[in-house]
Amino acid sequence: MKTFVYIDHFKGEVQPASWEALGLAKSLGTASVVIFGSGLDAIAKSAFEHEADEVFVADDSTLTDYRAEPYASTLSALASAQSPDLILFPTTARTRELAAMSAVDLNTGVLTDISGLEASGDQLVATRPIYEGKVLEKTVCSGKPVMATIRARAFPKPEADASRSGTPTKVEVKPDALTHVEGYSASESAVNLGDAGVIVSGGRGVSNNPSLQPPAGMDDKQAELWRAQQGFALVTELAQVLGGAVGASRAAVDAGYIPYSHQVGQTGKVVTPDLYIACGISGAIQHLVGMRNAKLIVAINKDSDAPIFKQARYGVVGDLFQIVPALTEAFKKKLGR
Ligand SMILES: Cc1cc2nc3c(=O)[nH]c(=O)nc-3n(C[C@H](O)[C@H](O)[C@H](O)COP(=O)(O)OP(=O)(O)OC[C@H]3O[C@@H](n4cnc5c(N)ncnc54)[C@H](O)[C@@H]3O)c2cc1C
Repeated sequence: MKTFVYIDHFKGEVQPASWEALGLAKSLGTASVVIFGSGLDAIAKSAFEHEADEVFVADDSTLTDYRAEPYASTLSALASAQSPDLILFPTTARTRELAAMSAVDLNTGVLTDISGLEASGDQLVATRPIYEGKVLEKTVCSGKPVMATIRARAFPKPEADASRSGTPTKVEVKPDALTHVEGYSASESAVNLGDAGVIVSGGRGVSNNPSLQPPAGMDDKQAELWRAQQGFALVTELAQVLGGAVGASRAAVDAGYIPYSHQVGQTGKVVTPDLYIACGISGAIQHLVGMRNAKLIVAINKDSDAPIFKQARYGVVGDLFQIVPALTEAFKKKLGR
């Protein structure tokens, strides 16, 4: 089977799930990596190191910043010329748009956010979680090529081997004058919970430390926000020591403790880290559906009856303002940080 693997990157930084897509492609047959942008030598080199059989680069100043129209037309033209059986993408906001546009050009369909893919006869059967992960759906795409975006951390990432190398094949780029990007700036959505191996999350409990005295003159709401800042500072420090990201419950987000981009759950992000530490989170079903597939769940909560303990492998009944700093210190010592 011949598979195209689209490498999604932002200003040269590759979305790690791109390499997971490459590993999946190699398990099915040959993998041709496709990279769009400008100044792509380092990514092309990395693709060969991750065992790409061939690498197509559309390296052109008109493709420096992602835009759906020229990226989709370049991908569609390349796929029409090379006739892959399958095109894989990591699931990101950009690739959802790109895959959909290209699927229209190629008269095929897109299987989104898949967590499994197997060959069955001459068909590819994808697995994807639906209804907040309660049901796993088996689905096929009857068009050709099959197009699919893969869920981050659902497939193993191949090891890079610096001794592997190759020569990329240049792809012709047709200039597109319809739109151009004036520039990008960082936004709160830069929080990448989907790729994080460790997530430390805070809930409403992060503001519950009555012994912390806020500065004079604050009203009750200001004092609550100030206390929450102290709580999230502890959560953030633990996340940093573990090399992880900071998550939050909706209650913490709605109360204004932390931006929405950190929210985990039904109306936030669905995450699958190796380690999820829930601090001061009760474990409402809408939160659990976002994190219950984490490999290891640790809960810290004052209330021994909190539902989160039913999901957790390890539970600490206690005040997060004591437990979290103690854990941070212990990890600092253990990890030498
Ligand atoms: C349609 C819908 C969608 C929703 N989507 C989401 C979603 O995406 N994500 C989400 O998280 N929620 C979501 N919710 C909200 C959800 O139902 C809960 O209200 C929310 O998850 C509760 O957040 P929490 O656990 O932080 O707060 P609480 O339920 O108030 O729990 C706070 C916990 O902190 C503990 N605590 C307090 N002080 C301390 C302390 N000092 N040390 C240790 N523990 C302490 C308490 O014992 C308690 O268990 C949604 C709700 C609806 C209706």
